[in-house]
Amino acid sequence: MTPAKTILHPRITIMESFGVEGESEILKAIFLPLITPSHLVPVVEIARIFAMHGVDVTIITTPANAAIFQSSIDRDSSRGSSIRTHTIKFPQIPGLPEGMESINASTPKDMTSKIVEGMSILELQFRQAFRDMKPDFIVTDMFYVWSVEVAAELDIPRLIYMGGTYFAHCAMDSLERFEPHNKVGSDDESFLLPGLPHEIEMIRSQLPIRFRNPNHQYEYLMKAVKESAKKSYGSVFKSFREFEGVYEEHYKKIMGTKSWNVGPISSWVNQDASDKAGRGHAKEEEEEEKGKEGWLAWLDSKKEDSVLYVCFGSMNNFPSTQLVEIAHALEDSGHDFLWVVRKVDEGEAKGFVEEFEKRVQASNKGYLIWGWAPQLLILEHPAVGAVVTHCGMNTVIESVDAGLPLVTWPLFAEQFFNEKLLVDVLKIGVPIGAKKWREWNGLGDEIVKREDIGKAIALLMSGGEESLEIRKRAKAMSVAAKKAIQVGGSSYNSLKELIEELRSLKLQKVNRKMEEPLA
Ligand code: UDP
Repeated sequence: MTPAKTILHPRITIMESFGVEGESEILKAIFLPLITPSHLVPVVEIARIFAMHGVDVTIITTPANAAIFQSSIDRDSSRGSSIRTHTIKFPQIPGLPEGMESINASTPKDMTSKIVEGMSILELQFRQAFRDMKPDFIVTDMFYVWSVEVAAELDIPRLIYMGGTYFAHCAMDSLERFEPHNKVGSDDESFLLPGLPHEIEMIRSQLPIRFRNPNHQYEYLMKAVKESAKKSYGSVFKSFREFEGVYEEHYKKIMGTKSWNVGPISSWVNQDASDKAGRGHAKEEEEEEKGKEGWLAWLDSKKEDSVLYVCFGSMNNFPSTQLVEIAHALEDSGHDFLWVVRKVDEGEAKGFVEEFEKRVQASNKGYLIWGWAPQLLILEHPAVGAVVTHCGMNTVIESVDAGLPLVTWPLFAEQFFNEKLLVDVLKIGVPIGAKKWREWNGLGDEIVKREDIGKAIALLMSGGEESLEIRKRAKAMSVAAKKAIQVGGSSYNSLKELIEELRSLKLQKVNRKMEEPLA
């Protein structure tokens, strides 16, 4: 086996092996990400961070999902990290086209259940791969609740990757425990979330469906996730202490479990432009129409902090009426904007957005990216001054890392909770005023009007006292984010402690085995 010292990542100065001395101490880990970009991308990035710090890492996934991140793994491997992908063929499901193995914004609604069916078949193969590879520990997505059993069977720790903020998990726990939403008379009557460190007010229509319909399948799923989190060795979050340390402590208290922070992850692992540009998408999803550099030249021509970056993640589709409102709001705002637009198939909306694109191109006020944008590169560009976001946790942390204030427009999953953290606790976001939670693959029935979008943009971009304060707080949070991953920083130390703890568990196990009497 390769001596530990040679698996250092030579380019990355912060990288070290956290005191690995002999090959018996090299930790072997398996990471199992979910097959949706919003969970896959961060779990792969966390796996890469572990590998950069001397852990021998195997990521298990299916071929089409591997295509999304393989170039990053190849790059890390060529730089000296001990990391690889192990692919398992996605099962053939009648009616599911070959290669459709990921749940994202372009997955047809009627294919989702077929992909889930394929996943449940894969479970047996994943279990077997764990047994065959004999890792020292596993890190699996929160939705693989079964993986805690395999870890117990193999007598190894299972770390659960928790998507979302600590804050969101604490808020959901408050709702489960105290049910304040069942004590109000209507969906739009506000209530406080009891037991949280801050006064947080919400309305029922902003809550995930399971809180309004206790028999919903998500209710069972989320209960199972919580149970498996409690049975796991501990949780891994892509958060950092300075961002939501109070809620980290609260989470540990209510769950009675250990947890570690390894965020912000994206800037920790993607240190040069090629890492950032290639991350999170297969080649064919790259913006093709205008060439890769179009957006960059356009941003280069803009003043510092002047451009709004508008993107709603990897899962969302808006109805055409909403696209029209967004387009008008952006144009009417008078500010420059870079808008990431998913493919619009409907004739009328397609025509409208294409016309809109021509118009804003001619006026040089806006730039549209169709499909997948190189978000990390865009966020760090000096011309970008604020982000309009659906409050997906990845975008939230990436924006915070880049020091950008946010216009918050939550849509689904735990995003309404994330909004509360940004607006009410950290005060680095301005809400658009969204009131209705919707399913990730539904279009919803709430259309946010251009005036409301415009108001939030105007407040944030006005340069007035309030906006300057928000911007100042966002910049300060960015400084803290950057420190967190440096040697001695909070996330750096958290990762170091975790790896040391896992190594000592391994050694204890080896010693126990040596002391066992021979059969
Ligand atoms: N992303 C990107 N380009 C896009 C859309 C998304 O790079 O055009 C990345 C983004 O940087 C983030 C992730 O995809 O890391 C989206 O995760 P988030 O939690 O923000 O939203 P979700 O996709 O889960 O709704």
